[in-house]
Amino acid sequence: MSELRDQFGRTIEYLRISVTDRCNFRCSYCMPLEGLPWLPKSDILSYEEIREVVTQLAPLGLSRVRITGGEPTIRPQLATLVRFIRAVPSVQDIALSTNGVRLPELARELADAGLDRVNMSADSLRPERVAAIARRDLKFEPIAAAAAAQAAGLDPIKLNVVVMRGINDDEVVDFARLTLDNPWHVRFIELMPVGEMAMLSEAHVVPTAEILARITQALGPLTESDGPARGNGPAAYSRLAGAPGTIGVITPMTHTYCGTCNRVRLTADGRLRTCLFGDHEVDLRTPLRAGLPLEPFVRRALAEKPEAHALLQRRVGGLRALSQVGG
Ligand code: SAM
Repeated sequence: MSELRDQFGRTIEYLRISVTDRCNFRCSYCMPLEGLPWLPKSDILSYEEIREVVTQLAPLGLSRVRITGGEPTIRPQLATLVRFIRAVPSVQDIALSTNGVRLPELARELADAGLDRVNMSADSLRPERVAAIARRDLKFEPIAAAAAAQAAGLDPIKLNVVVMRGINDDEVVDFARLTLDNPWHVRFIELMPVGEMAMLSEAHVVPTAEILARITQALGPLTESDGPARGNGPAAYSRLAGAPGTIGVITPMTHTYCGTCNRVRLTADGRLRTCLFGDHEVDLRTPLRAGLPLEPFVRRALAEKPEAHALLQRRVGGLRALSQVGG
């Protein structure tokens, strides 16, 4: 069986799996306060069905999996899925994207089930501001959640900060300071004009050059760094002198990462999506539930994977919210 390649010769070895479209947050840039029209439960892939997708893709070169959502930790028994995926021999790396709210109670169980690492969204370090951005007061303390992940042995731990001018950009230096005391990787992400971003404006976008300038002014020079050993995502990393952690920037508004794109996404309702910022999806759930082999459907999707998206040209019309596609 030959490995998965798209029409432009990019090898696909990374699958992001959304296990739910629901979330316990209502971040102002992502989801309306009243939520979205949720998928009916019967449309959502069971953990057994997700295991079958991974099992069928593994011999075709799938080696890395990320579990995401919506908020994946609100789906019951998530450790069962982690255990299923861990049992697929060629999967070398299992990561989780989470808002972290349930990490203090779940980190150990997930690590024991075989989870390797975690990316946690953290748009503020101040509980009252987290509640304001997330529009849900869950008494969430991001530092405690990251510490729980670390204590459970998850490694690396990445904190993803969506920087918004006038909303949380005054905390950039506080986030950077965390890397001086903790082996965490703080990544600043430019706000993207998708989903509820229509409610914010481009005036809220803070260029990463400005973020890095503020950090060096307050905390001293940054030197280029390799970043965490696991995970070859789109961030460019640097490090403060003597810091165990790193600082990363992800700049979707000024760069594309399409040339080295190695990933596809499985939506909670079983559609294979080949580009985050494109609407092209192939239904895997119907053949899966009919007991058909998935490879032809996956290859068809890859044959149509776009060469690049048009986010930089601000042409991303019709995009589902990131919560719906496993952003
Ligand atoms: N709930 C999980 C989490 O918090 O990581 C996984 C899903 S969430 C949609 C994934 C990431 O997308 C979060 O870090 C969130 O901040 C980010 N995100 C959502 N909408 C965004 C936007 N318009 N611009 C930039 N990042 C966005």
